[in-house]
Amino acid sequence: MKVLIVTTPVKPIGQGEGGGVDVSLHHIIRALTHRQHQVSVIAPKGSQLDADVDAKLIPIDGELQQSCQVHAPNTRFFCDDDCVLSRMWSAALAHQDDVDCILNLAYDWLPIWLTPFLPTPVFHLISMANENQQVANALQRLNHTAPERIAFRTHAAANTFSFSHPVTTLANGYPLAQFPFSPDGDGSIAWVGRISPEKGLEDAIRIAVRADMPLKIWGFEQDSDYRQALTREFPPSILQWQGFVPHQTLLQQLQHCSALLMTPKWVEAFGNCVAEAICCGVPVVAYNAGGPAEIVENGTTGFLIRPGDLDQAAAALSHVCQMNRTEVRRQGHQRFSLEAYAERLEIWMGLQRTTHSRHSTSKRQDPPRPLALG
Ligand code: UDP
Repeated sequence: MKVLIVTTPVKPIGQGEGGGVDVSLHHIIRALTHRQHQVSVIAPKGSQLDADVDAKLIPIDGELQQSCQVHAPNTRFFCDDDCVLSRMWSAALAHQDDVDCILNLAYDWLPIWLTPFLPTPVFHLISMANENQQVANALQRLNHTAPERIAFRTHAAANTFSFSHPVTTLANGYPLAQFPFSPDGDGSIAWVGRISPEKGLEDAIRIAVRADMPLKIWGFEQDSDYRQALTREFPPSILQWQGFVPHQTLLQQLQHCSALLMTPKWVEAFGNCVAEAICCGVPVVAYNAGGPAEIVENGTTGFLIRPGDLDQAAAALSHVCQMNRTEVRRQGHQRFSLEAYAERLEIWMGLQRTTHSRHSTSKRQDPPRPLALG
């Protein structure tokens, strides 16, 4: 089948601001092409795909969209002809007859609203919890008529919306052969994420101070005022800023850490860095909320802590460092294989049909169902 992916309009792919969406996009392409599907990607101009993925890139120029999680939930985002978001969807409309389905990765009102008007099925993989009313209203409306078109990574993220019909949850999958493993930790704690207040880095620093362990911090600096405030407030002996590094470099460095801390202030819709650490055999201490609560198996791959309980988290760090890293890794590999993820994606988007694609020489037997406008 031919799949057209329309990715996030907040930043070109490969620069860090897209966060987990960038990394997830690559894993989706790997999963689908491994199953012989053909993939093309519409993305902001300047995007770069990793050399090992096989997808046609369609770059689009235009003004980048703002990340909605840094604005109040009732913010109404503007979009006109100059915006990359509207231009990306104009391109999707122009290419839709050449593909079997469209997969939207953007957290924006426009593609959700457009869904019933496109004869080609559009699927939405929603990478954040309920952070914006405009998006939530559009998703809730679509859920009335076509719940099958919506998927989340976790139940925690889906449950922040008021849906009348259940939606699919897909978790994530990783190319595990590329995940390194170190049998021993080096005594440091890892923190991975965009440097932005909703990720709650200040709690992780306070926990590291209490545990008297160095904290290695990787991630894109999305909010430099926030980063500067943290640098002023906390002792430099604890903070080891690593910057944003390419994903494979991150994994190479992360494998040596004794544990990963995840202390978000928002509903973390999944928490790729949590699953990635576990797949490298690095146990996790995370707040018992959102996506991490569905990823960490308490006592086996890490510890889940009452959100905000810094003392409990510091105490958990000493226990987590004793965990069997081989077993942590084994659990991660069992849950997050790319093959199983590919199958979940295929089932959700109906890519497993035994009938022919509309691009094969035979006539398609089950044309896409036009949606009722609602
Ligand atoms: N990441 C990376 N290099 C870095 C820091 C982060 O490749 O220096 C990746 C990390 O491996 C993860 C993603 O960025 O896959 C962040 O995704 P996550 O779901 O943890 O958070 P989000 O940014 O989507 O809120």
